[in-house]
Amino acid sequence: MRVVKGCSFTYEHYKQTLLRAVKEGYAVIRALDLLEEEPNDKVLVLTHDIDLSVQKALRMAKIEYDLGLRSTFFVRVSGLYNVFDVENKEALRQMVEWGHEIGLHFPLEFYLREGCDPYDAIRIEKELLETALSIEILGFSLHSTGRLQRMCGDKLPEIRDVLLKAGFRYSRHHLVKRYGLKFVSDSNRYWRDGCLCLHLGAEPRILALIHPFWWDEEDLPIITLIERAIRGNVI
Ligand SMILES: [Zn+2]
Ligand SMILES: [Zn+2]
Repeated sequence: MRVVKGCSFTYEHYKQTLLRAVKEGYAVIRALDLLEEEPNDKVLVLTHDIDLSVQKALRMAKIEYDLGLRSTFFVRVSGLYNVFDVENKEALRQMVEWGHEIGLHFPLEFYLREGCDPYDAIRIEKELLETALSIEILGFSLHSTGRLQRMCGDKLPEIRDVLLKAGFRYSRHHLVKRYGLKFVSDSNRYWRDGCLCLHLGAEPRILALIHPFWWDEEDLPIITLIERAIRGNVI
């Protein structure tokens, strides 16, 4: 992993990275915005998968809002947290009010293992999320893409295309392909291609996937983040 001095999973580093992107002329946008207008020469599409905690996502949403930026948060319906929980629902609605986009983060792997029809499953999850938040969901991202790739192989693109037909305008993967974006992700709290900040200036068109759960005030070990989440009841 390439890490330069100063890189960390802290809110401060996240903030500084976004500020630098803006200063360097990147249009920092939501996934949905790509569909609305032809992207700038320099674009940073900011997306997040909420796998563990809506409350930590709210924190990141506030940081972006305070900087005058908006992003897309992909939300689990069949995950560890409950989108119908009052606090979670309020947090997600607050994010929408701040101008962020909410999409669906879909565990395709789970449904395939269970022998369920993924088209029916994603349609139902979409409807549940729309009902919980009284909004229309336009995009989705897939959970555990590495494992899915191994599980589905050549069939995965075909399955993705089928899922898109369940009333979506885009999937994150389709956007990356269609617009030739550089995909930069902190999946498993590991920057496979180096921290997002290292790509600024080097890559003109970036789609970033940031998991809010890995980030905090201090650069903390994964186990501490999980322990704190359980004790502090932020899941
Ligand atoms: Zn960095
Ligand atoms: Zn995920």
